[in-house]
Amino acid sequence: MTKLRLDVVGDPISHSKSPYIHETVLKELGTPYEYRKVRVKKGELSKYLCEAKELGLCGFNLTMPHKTDILPFLDFIDDEALRFNSVNTVKIKDGKLLGYNTDAQGMVYSMERQGFRTKDKNIVILGAGGVSSTLALKMAFEGTGKITVLNRTLRSAEDICEKIIKESGTNCTALSFDKESLKNAAKECDILINCTPLGMEGIDTDFEDLSFLENMSKGSLVFDLIYNPPETSLLKRAKELGLSTLNGLDMLIYQGLLADEIFFDTKLDLDIHKEKIDYVFKNLKNF
Ligand code: NAP
Repeated sequence: MTKLRLDVVGDPISHSKSPYIHETVLKELGTPYEYRKVRVKKGELSKYLCEAKELGLCGFNLTMPHKTDILPFLDFIDDEALRFNSVNTVKIKDGKLLGYNTDAQGMVYSMERQGFRTKDKNIVILGAGGVSSTLALKMAFEGTGKITVLNRTLRSAEDICEKIIKESGTNCTALSFDKESLKNAAKECDILINCTPLGMEGIDTDFEDLSFLENMSKGSLVFDLIYNPPETSLLKRAKELGLSTLNGLDMLIYQGLLADEIFFDTKLDLDIHKEKIDYVFKNLKNF
């Protein structure tokens, strides 16, 4: 049987764990697809899109640096993706490119499955890049109490806050990413989300000082979007202090499952598929 193709497109891409997620689902569904990693450099999306259509791809996922650059090429953009200005899933149907964002809902599911809801909560977000903006907007639209965004480049945090206040009316404050601001923000924080690459495998920078975690109250959650290593220095220290912790693997898995629902126009039993994917990751060497 001829195999049909799905891709994940980004640069860098060799580190991507997405194929493990989608191949597990495709095997379960008995669907004759293969899922490939394709390196596409910034500015080269247009060439890739021509190839994707010519090859008859059913769709592809997007990661850094293409989630916003893809927007002008799309024939349809889902409302949420449009609000976030970010697309991570493109379905190709009748030669048309249809764009969606499953990152934000993946984050919501990963926290909910651990018993954490963002409604009326005090959220602190570290970093103000693409994913930070998407997640902050999602939580604001879902009725979170207050959001504080801390970033090395203060202007980017301010841009996110301005958008949130304008579009949702949620209380949002921008702060610099410094010791004092981290300590103050941590004091009233229910959920702290790290959206910077600090502590990630292959990146030689990490948090210089984690004492701000001591200001968080018991029962609060520290969520690191990084999943490699599974326990960053941030999560290790949070655990030592008795705080709840979550890494980014569940979010990655849920965003992938939601993308498969879009690709195959179907509803998946998320818990069953998640369990199977967890098993695959547990048995992976070097992870
Ligand atoms: P991005 O757009 O490049 O943003 C990176 C952010 O981190 C920026 O705000 C940047 O600050 C900050 N930053 C970078 N280096 C820093 C340093 N040395 N000290 C302090 N701040 C620093 O990246 P992104 O797409 O938002 O992704 C952010 C993280 O989330 C990455 O680690 C990525 O792997 C992870 N992620 C995980 C999932 C998942 O499913 N688990 C999904 C998407 C992303 P400046 O603005 O000052 O440059």
